Amino acid sequence: MQRYPLSVASPLDQKLGGALGARTASAFAKAFGIATVGELLTHYPRRYARRGELTELSHLPLDENVTIVAEVIDVRERPMRAKKGSILEARITDGKGILTLTFFNQAWRAKDLRPGVRGIFAGKVGEYRGSRQLAHPDYELFTDEDPAPSVSPEAWALTPIPIYPATSTVSSWQVHKAVGVMLDVLPELDDPVPDAVRDARGLLPFSTAIRLIHQPSVDSEWHAARKSLRFQEAFVLQTALLEQRKRLRELAATPRVPKEGGLLEQFDAALSFELTADQREVGAAIADDIAAAEPMNRLLQGEVGSGKTVVALRAMLAVADTGGQSALLAPTEVLAGQHLRSIVATLGPDLAARLRPTLITGQLPTADRRKALLAAVTGQAHIVIGTHALMSETVEFFDLGLVVVDEQHRFGVDQREALRRKGAVPPHVLVLTATPIPRTVAMTVFGDLDISTIAELPAGRIPIETFIVPLADRPGWADRVWERLSEELAQGRQAFVVCPAIDSDAEAPPVEAGEQDIVGEPSHPLTTVAETLQRLRADPRFAAQRVEGLHGRLSSEEKDARMRAFAAGDIDVLVATTVIEVGVDVPNASAMIVLDADRFGVSQLHQLRGRVGRGGVPGLCLLVTAAETGTPARERVEAVAATLDGFELAQKDLELRQEGDVLGSVQSGRRSSLRLLRVVKDGELILEARELASLVLADDPTLARHSALREALDRRLDEAERDFLAKS
Ligand code: ADP
Ligand code: MG
Repeated sequence: MQRYPLSVASPLDQKLGGALGARTASAFAKAFGIATVGELLTHYPRRYARRGELTELSHLPLDENVTIVAEVIDVRERPMRAKKGSILEARITDGKGILTLTFFNQAWRAKDLRPGVRGIFAGKVGEYRGSRQLAHPDYELFTDEDPAPSVSPEAWALTPIPIYPATSTVSSWQVHKAVGVMLDVLPELDDPVPDAVRDARGLLPFSTAIRLIHQPSVDSEWHAARKSLRFQEAFVLQTALLEQRKRLRELAATPRVPKEGGLLEQFDAALSFELTADQREVGAAIADDIAAAEPMNRLLQGEVGSGKTVVALRAMLAVADTGGQSALLAPTEVLAGQHLRSIVATLGPDLAARLRPTLITGQLPTADRRKALLAAVTGQAHIVIGTHALMSETVEFFDLGLVVVDEQHRFGVDQREALRRKGAVPPHVLVLTATPIPRTVAMTVFGDLDISTIAELPAGRIPIETFIVPLADRPGWADRVWERLSEELAQGRQAFVVCPAIDSDAEAPPVEAGEQDIVGEPSHPLTTVAETLQRLRADPRFAAQRVEGLHGRLSSEEKDARMRAFAAGDIDVLVATTVIEVGVDVPNASAMIVLDADRFGVSQLHQLRGRVGRGGVPGLCLLVTAAETGTPARERVEAVAATLDGFELAQKDLELRQEGDVLGSVQSGRRSSLRLLRVVKDGELILEARELASLVLADDPTLARHSALREALDRRLDEAERDFLAKS
């Protein structure tokens, strides 16, 4: 094998191609967004399988995770019943029993799973039509390259086999091999964790930990490696947050004090309702923040419909009073468009004319875009609303005073920092979220922010009624859902029907971030927008109704047109994905029907439910699920049905989710997200790491004497910025 010495400042910042070759590098970039050696080495194994201590096929416990060594007997692909797509079924045997593996729409696996091939298979035992099966198991096939026979058979059987996150183009085994090549040429790594801290906690040096997490020879080695690297992650993150917090507080911002008899006063005088006590209190805190000469960095959390937007709007008016501009960042185009309309309506014609709320999104026609960009750069638009396209380089402001980020759980701390770096003079930042946030989560993901809460809802809200439709126990109730829907529509109301998938083409990537938050692996094909549309349109009960779809694969004009038509009452039933999850406000919409409700997280269901019952009409939420009583999937749905209290549900969410993708994509999908750290389980560790990080920073504020730590911080930001730009 050819060796390439790694010789820049830090080997972790080397491009992958140098050591692995351009083809492999490009495959890893496409599959995982991995560009550097450091990113490859922190692509940690998801779990470890072992050749020894295996489950026998004749004793397979239902619903438990098992690991089996077996041989493939045969494999076949068949179309799904009543749906587009296919199922690949492979039968495997350990010589005593036979088990079926199933994969939905992954026919390509047939090229791996050839008859006669042996391997190790791991997954959770399920049941389908009376026989045991593994749906979407992890597997590692034995090949000629599989471990050297230089070790004893006993040691071989006990060696942990790392199982990596893999894709259809790069298998776990290929990751393992690439990491191995890298480790062979890797020099000693400088440890971001200071020696004294590491020794006091009994942690492994960085280089050792990296080796052992990828190539352990016994379980205790990867345990120790994970522990060390998890601490390192917490420590680097907390140092980054503390440094950021400190830096932000040292920056000069423009104070924004509303003018007497100005825009804010005019707005308050015309407001058609009384602000709640919480809104007033939070509003006062924000007013103080933005009147100061250092930038505000505040998170505002409050239930869906608690009136966060009006609080943010009042801050924008204060900024406009000083001649400044505000940017409102929404997670989707649909929401950006809706924010524009509702802000225009709330301002009223006079104020709207003076503030010129302006939309800037990626899909704006060129002429409109040019006009909007001009309004932003000249300062004529005092409120600019958009998706993260707003933060691209072509968008310039005359005097950006305030950035409001709506529904923050779509953005992580690194994205926020990348975003702040875009402004010359740092703007005040207000982050809005409807997801209540536990302390350690706040400290990890929002550690650079001050936090306020709106706990009370505006008066006069009629509570939403929630019912579970348990198809596992009562298959006959499926039709009752549609009956109930038709009753609701008969009263002149409108409804949402939410499905977990767009259509049965599972390979096609969803467009909107929100559509990626589906929980777990499918145990049956997901209900789709396409089939639900078809079914409702074919149903005579809805012959007189207009039923339309809404999902992330529509163009933004189509989405916007449909959302607008729905808001105007021209569409009766909107069959949608979670694109409609956040912020959408249609007072006449009274029913929310969620199909395959168990596919969604607790907080997500709660958010969806918050879409209805926003006007004066009572809301109805039907959570349709085929999950069996007692399963975690069913428990999630039951938790949501049991209460309307978002804070209680957030707590429940933490208890129910084993691994913490508490904040959806913030912690899971993206490269710059957390790797080993779990904010729920690791709360204690996070607090300790924060303590130690603050000692280090107090002693060496610029980290001049902690160069490896300095580099680790910069690396985080570079990665985040790259991610951020890739998405813009
Ligand atoms: P959030 O952004 O927190 O989900 P919004 O700000 O969109 O909530 O408010 C939801 C609805 O409640 C809007 O129609 C808004 O005008 C209205 N609203 C806000 N505050 C009050 C209040 N104090 N009293 C009555 N209605 C209110
Ligand atoms: Mg909102």
